[in-house]
Amino acid sequence: MNRNFNKSEGLVPVIIQDDRTLQVLMLGYMNEEAFKKTKNEGIVTFFSRSKNRLWTKGEESGNFLTVKSMEIDCDNDTILIKAVPKNIVCHTGSFSCFGNKDSKGFLYELEEKISHRIDEKVEGSYTYSLFQRGINKVAQKVGEEAVELVIEAKDNNDDLFKNEAADLLYHYLILLKAKNMKLEDIEEILINRNK
Ligand code: AMP
Ligand code: ZN
Ligand code: ZN
Ligand code: ZN
Repeated sequence: MNRNFNKSEGLVPVIIQDDRTLQVLMLGYMNEEAFKKTKNEGIVTFFSRSKNRLWTKGEESGNFLTVKSMEIDCDNDTILIKAVPKNIVCHTGSFSCFGNKDSKGFLYELEEKISHRIDEKVEGSYTYSLFQRGINKVAQKVGEEAVELVIEAKDNNDDLFKNEAADLLYHYLILLKAKNMKLEDIEEILINRNK
């Protein structure tokens, strides 16, 4: 790769894009050393202008960026890295440095909430009490909701259908939690099938 580090005081802007969703996650800068380190380790290291040193994204938070591909733009002065982020990317707590906090969508927020109810053993929570009854019960509930959805599919009541569809999605998320899986794991399978 023939990037030019000399145009702007030895620093080249680097766009980080989510390899799975192509969402733009953040922008940083690299000098030659950061670039080489990133290439060698497969984990993104920038040159931080505020810290004035090499900065491996995630060095404190553990939220590293695993490199999937690196490419250079048309005139050799910008790098695009497709990466898989571990957890969130932005230090403000947002998933991405651009866009909304909930840029992964409400389903992911709901997944977080379900996870929290269960991990914190929230008293009086339906989610937690269902979870406590064991994985077979949770799976059975998903089956019931699926059947209810099938039944509503045959009718002409859109409201009932939508509500059963929501019930299924909600219980599906509890089942994933009971299986110790993340929505993201399933999403990854769908994304890979699409490639
Ligand atoms: P991290 O590299 O994630 O361990 O974060 C270490 C420090 O780098 C944070 O305290 C922030 O000051 C800064 N930082 C982390 N992520 C970002 C980001 N996406 N954009 C700008 N600064 C960041
Ligand atoms: Zn350019
Ligand atoms: Zn940010
Ligand atoms: Zn239902």
